[in-house]
Amino acid sequence: MATKGLMQRLNEDPVICAEGYLFEMERRGYLQAGAFVPEVVVEHPEVVRQLHRDFAHAGSDVMEAFTYYAHREKMRLIGREEELENINRQALRIAREVAEEYGCLLAGNICNTNVYEPDNAASADAVRAIFTEQVQWAVDEGADYIVAETIAFAGEAAIALDVIKQVGMPAVVTLAAHRTGRLRDGLSVAEACKMLEKNGADVVGLNCARGPDTMLPLLEEIASVCTVPLAALPVPYRTTPSEPNFQALTDPCHAHPSDERPFPTHLDPMTCTRMEIADFTKRATEIGAAYLGVCCGAGPHHIRAMAEALGRRPPASRYSADMSKHYALGDDPSFKGHNLEYGQEL
Ligand SMILES: [Zn+2]
Repeated sequence: MATKGLMQRLNEDPVICAEGYLFEMERRGYLQAGAFVPEVVVEHPEVVRQLHRDFAHAGSDVMEAFTYYAHREKMRLIGREEELENINRQALRIAREVAEEYGCLLAGNICNTNVYEPDNAASADAVRAIFTEQVQWAVDEGADYIVAETIAFAGEAAIALDVIKQVGMPAVVTLAAHRTGRLRDGLSVAEACKMLEKNGADVVGLNCARGPDTMLPLLEEIASVCTVPLAALPVPYRTTPSEPNFQALTDPCHAHPSDERPFPTHLDPMTCTRMEIADFTKRATEIGAAYLGVCCGAGPHHIRAMAEALGRRPPASRYSADMSKHYALGDDPSFKGHNLEYGQEL
């Protein structure tokens, strides 16, 4: 198993944690958009194992167990509640297997429950129960730490953090800032992160919802008030001030029927290039982000670009582009003049 823990690694160097398993599995044809439940874990475990390997190969330091939305509320929604424990343990075991292969950390994962309501004690109890069982399974299966992610209520994030701290694990808490840039219970993301830091979070920050350009200003606000390591895991989409989150994006080239937004399955034209992810990596680390990754929409190529922007050469860098070997655009001395001239016309 990995010898250095999360906090020791963060002390020495940024840590990359690939996310976005849900969207990548959907793209590969193994997961249904809408409910977004990771049934693939029990239906095609070999596909999940391979995606973990792809991300490790591309430079992720962490294997995050694919338990996103494998919680009681979502499993109930699709009529598979009785398989709840099995899907969680399976996801953790697959991630652990690949983490051991590559010397990565294993992160347990909990996320937005969609049953939280501010000032409703019964909903807070339901949320706590959902998190408690998932965190316990992650502890049982040998997680090194727990990520609570994509949470849009400060109150729900506080419950997640409390449950993680009860088992004595390092806690990474990342909030989702949707269109308004504020949490749904009114706090700014900076206020919420400060509260989480005070309550004992080891890493705080943002994941999902926002692309690089509209996440960076919020990261600056958090960095100005928090001292624990800052997490920055945007979606790889070209969000803008007027469309700051990927759910709000419109497609500049194709009109969609008014009732059909590009989110979630027609976002391809707005996807960030590797260069844009490399640029984000540099800007985020300048702000002080140390826990980095890419969320929904990420492919292994984005993770490799992130790793290389940090000066690393993950195994996948063996295949990073070398256009000097291109017959018409390269410069190998053996290349034919007529091809190189034709290169000007390509
Ligand atoms: Zn996401």
